Amino acid sequence: MEQETPEWIPAEHKIGIDLGLSDFAITTNDAGESVKYANPKCLSRSEKKVKKAQRALSRKKKGSKNREKARIALAKKHEKIENQRKDFLHKLSNHITDENQVIVIETLRSSNMMKNHKLAKAIGDVSWSEFCRQLTYKAEWKGRTLIKADRFYPSTQLCSACGHRDGKKAPHIRYWTCTDCGTTHDRDINASKNLLALAE
Ligand SMILES: [Zn+2]
Repeated sequence: MEQETPEWIPAEHKIGIDLGLSDFAITTNDAGESVKYANPKCLSRSEKKVKKAQRALSRKKKGSKNREKARIALAKKHEKIENQRKDFLHKLSNHITDENQVIVIETLRSSNMMKNHKLAKAIGDVSWSEFCRQLTYKAEWKGRTLIKADRFYPSTQLCSACGHRDGKKAPHIRYWTCTDCGTTHDRDINASKNLLALAE
């Protein structure tokens, strides 16, 4: 089936997007608006149901009818999670590509983070790579400019107020104060501002 390319409507704003663990995405646009998009609660609820279904399956005798039933129940719960996740990601990527002409995202280094098992699970949950994939094709479709920050760009270390590089911040540090200009930053919002700066 062929689709017509939509008429290009320039969007008003530029936006920087930081991807996180406690929040899925943290954005700042050129109007100075910062937004935190929390991970949908339905995902963790559904995940508990998956674990329960997995336990139920493991208790069933191999080759039995009940095992087959439990296997189908588990597959259905997995499918439900997938649909909830996709729905969340599509809504967010639609919203961002509708509103913004220039979009800056960080380049993911998940292969490094995957070495940490707990983080890996969280990263899997939040589906960063799927989100970037959606942003990429939707930006192209709508005629937006998508900028992927250099993978070594220190978006969490720079002070977005004065540009001072303040050094590495451990993952648990949520707020910090610039040792040069004294501005106190929300870690993620500051990172999104630094990403936005790459759009100018
Ligand atoms: Zn500063």
